[in-house]
Amino acid sequence: MRDPRYDILFEPLQIGPVTARNRFYQVPHCNGGGYRDPSAAAAMRGVKSEGGWGVIFTEQCEMHHSSEITPFIELRLWEDRDMPMLARMAARMKDHGALAGIQLAYSGINGPNFYSREVPRAVSPGPILTFTNDPVQARALDKAEIADLRRWFVTAARRAQGAGFDLICLYGAHGFGIFQHFLSRATNHRDDEYGGSLENRSRFAREVVADIREAVGDTMGITMRVSLDETIGTLGFSNAELRDFIAMHHDLPDLWDLAHGTWEDCSGPSRFKEEAAQEVLVRGIRELSSRPVVGVGRFTSPDVMARMIRSGTLDAIGCARPSIADPFLPKKIEEGRIEDIRECIGCNICITGDMTMSPSRCTQNPTFMEEWRKGWHPERMNPKGPSRSVLVVGAGPAGLEATRALAERGYDVALAEAGTALGGRVARERLLPGLSAWGRVADYRAYQIGQKPNVEVYFDSALDAAGILEFGFEHVCLATGATWRRDGVARQHMVPFPINPAMPLYTPDDLMAGARPEGHVVVWDDDHYYMGGVLAELLVQAGARVTFVTSSAHVSDWTMNTLEQHSIQRRLIEMGVDLVLNRGVTAIGAAGVESNCSYTDARREIGCDAVVMVASRLAEDGLYRALAARWADWDAAGLRSVRVIGDAEAPGPIAWATYAGHRYARELDAADIGDALPFRRELAELAPE
Ligand code: ADP
Ligand code: SF4
Repeated sequence: MRDPRYDILFEPLQIGPVTARNRFYQVPHCNGGGYRDPSAAAAMRGVKSEGGWGVIFTEQCEMHHSSEITPFIELRLWEDRDMPMLARMAARMKDHGALAGIQLAYSGINGPNFYSREVPRAVSPGPILTFTNDPVQARALDKAEIADLRRWFVTAARRAQGAGFDLICLYGAHGFGIFQHFLSRATNHRDDEYGGSLENRSRFAREVVADIREAVGDTMGITMRVSLDETIGTLGFSNAELRDFIAMHHDLPDLWDLAHGTWEDCSGPSRFKEEAAQEVLVRGIRELSSRPVVGVGRFTSPDVMARMIRSGTLDAIGCARPSIADPFLPKKIEEGRIEDIRECIGCNICITGDMTMSPSRCTQNPTFMEEWRKGWHPERMNPKGPSRSVLVVGAGPAGLEATRALAERGYDVALAEAGTALGGRVARERLLPGLSAWGRVADYRAYQIGQKPNVEVYFDSALDAAGILEFGFEHVCLATGATWRRDGVARQHMVPFPINPAMPLYTPDDLMAGARPEGHVVVWDDDHYYMGGVLAELLVQAGARVTFVTSSAHVSDWTMNTLEQHSIQRRLIEMGVDLVLNRGVTAIGAAGVESNCSYTDARREIGCDAVVMVASRLAEDGLYRALAARWADWDAAGLRSVRVIGDAEAPGPIAWATYAGHRYARELDAADIGDALPFRRELAELAPE
């Protein structure tokens, strides 16, 4: 069963008056569902309880209506009526023996209060520091209001206790929680006893912990999530000052939860952050306190986790993303099934759910946030239906996930791939700068498929309609992917535009196949996700001089949602890429591109030796259309259904493809639901008029 090297991860951990069954600690994380989708969020946490986590936290819970972060959808504990929703969440967390934790957040300088319309109150006055530069300022809390705020924390703690939680986390990291705002000189300019010296800036934290301890501390553990470093030098709450703070208040909370001072730093994608990236900032802190310490670092390797504990760096392994990608991570380690772990790839698609206020998705775990909505379980498929066999065409993320999940259900599956490797787009994209972890999408599924006696994989098998009709499969699932367009059709040009064939023109597919244009290369990005930025990096590494042209004001615009836009733009600047922002491309000539201003349409020539066009993608659905056209032959061939999924249906991020594959497998042989809604949802209860 369990490898004894990992025994240390399964030792119980005392957190104040409560004991966690092991060292697997799911730190608070958003899910895009929050108060709008409470049962979906509760069921998602419940699956983690089943998966063996010792501690499971909610996302941030706005503990008072005078500080809220609309439009972002988190939890609320504003009045007693909020308690049943939270009680359901606590109950699901505890179903299989985890401790249930709630994160209480007062957002201060980070809460624009668009919903409540209250004037934002912060430690010191200033503009609200949101992602969206909201045109709202906060005023300072006066002393009477600080007393009110202390009382509100106590009220929230009592409600949390009433809802059945075991742990309270006081939020003071990522720039979001008021405890950080008090601690940091950047956000605390007060000249009363709450400002100035570190001792004064710590006062609020000290008072709130004492208040809550008096109110509920005999039954609940109190944890404090503090910033490891605000990364703005000595003005902010630096790592050195954090150490002084902890040394000064070594027994303040029942556990220290250490996280970076900005969310972008804490949840950096794998392109910019390795596993355990915060280790240097955390090392040595445990010795300053008599309380246990938890830290995060996109931990997916049990060896790294065990090392963190054995070396005395951490007492518990904090995970958000790894627990999303694999809610059964602890159980798999416990049962000695390391190779079954579905490792997080660090793509941050989960975070885009929060940023776009939609239920979060996970590239690796398509069941995330569908546990209640669709009844999907990450480790159990629905029983097999009456059909026997399925042919899946294409071994990209969609085809691989469909194959894995169909085989899990018990179908005989043949997977035909035109190439000689599994992975489709991830087999190619994993070779691009910084994207190697994305290969885990293929690696996990390749291993799982390899364990299944009911799957046959055929390489070098570019199938056509005639061949498929000869095979005699009952169902055909086409996951044939997409190719990058060469005609520039995307957002700026909805129809093809002038391109002189004399100009060497490359698409991302060409570069991924090994082409390396030389000299001065214009990368024109009308896709706005990661590909354009990654290719600019690749070309500079290969020795080209790169000019990056985008109609947006930012490089790789959409990666704001994956918290990496800043890092991408910074990297390109540091690599010497010439950034031409707010400009599109109107024509490609023999000696350069004609570029236009996004606002005035003013034209300008940019001379170059080659152009890399990152436009949109064209679904490879020719095989689907050919089979559909031969519909009259299906019966004789024993073929009952043909479906096209993933990028071949409509190109999108990898998470969309794994979701499509999973959904196909779940729904095969399902009863036709007609026009009914294919998921459950919750509606706001109408109040009496
Ligand atoms: P998705 O993201 O939807 O999974 P990918 O582009 O990653 O799509 O993968 C599609 C895979 O399908 C590629 O590996 C490609 O080689 C394969 N493929 C495309 N057409 C055929 C075909 N006619 N027969 C077999 N395999 C195909
Ligand atoms: Fe990890 Fe990506 Fe899943 Fe988030 S979406 S948990 S980063 S694999």
